[in-house]
Amino acid sequence: TVGMVCLDRQGKLTAATSTSGLFMKRKGRVGDSPIVGSGFYADSKVGGATATGLGEDLMKGCISYEIVRLMKDGHHPQAACEIAVNQLDKELKERRQKAGDLSVIAMNNKGEWGVATNIDGFSFAVATENEKPTVYLVKNT
Ligand code: ASP
Repeated sequence: TVGMVCLDRQGKLTAATSTSGLFMKRKGRVGDSPIVGSGFYADSKVGGATATGLGEDLMKGCISYEIVRLMKDGHHPQAACEIAVNQLDKELKERRQKAGDLSVIAMNNKGEWGVATNIDGFSFAVATENEKPTVYLVKNT
């Protein structure tokens, strides 16, 4: 999945995803990526978020909506991403001893951004109109 959160000069936020879904998925499966609130969510008054990983688990947390809700409550995007991923990861492990891959990015309406993952290598890029993209690799935040 490729997920993107954009902030334009007018202060409007957009979030989007594009995916091929999970490898060897069953015919007719719909993952989290096209589901508003799970794969992506944006509110120009607050911020936006997108997710990648195991759709069945990401949907259980409505994780993109949850991140925007946390930012609306005053959390920095980095804190919002970490809280949402760690909380969902914990709940899934309590329920069935394991959690699927969960990785998220977010940006607020000031252009501040955050990222969180429960996997060993998640890469993402940050770009502005004046700066070329910087690619980052994060591990199990
Ligand atoms: N989240 C996608 C899905 O479950 C897969 C992915 O992010 O690679 O369909």
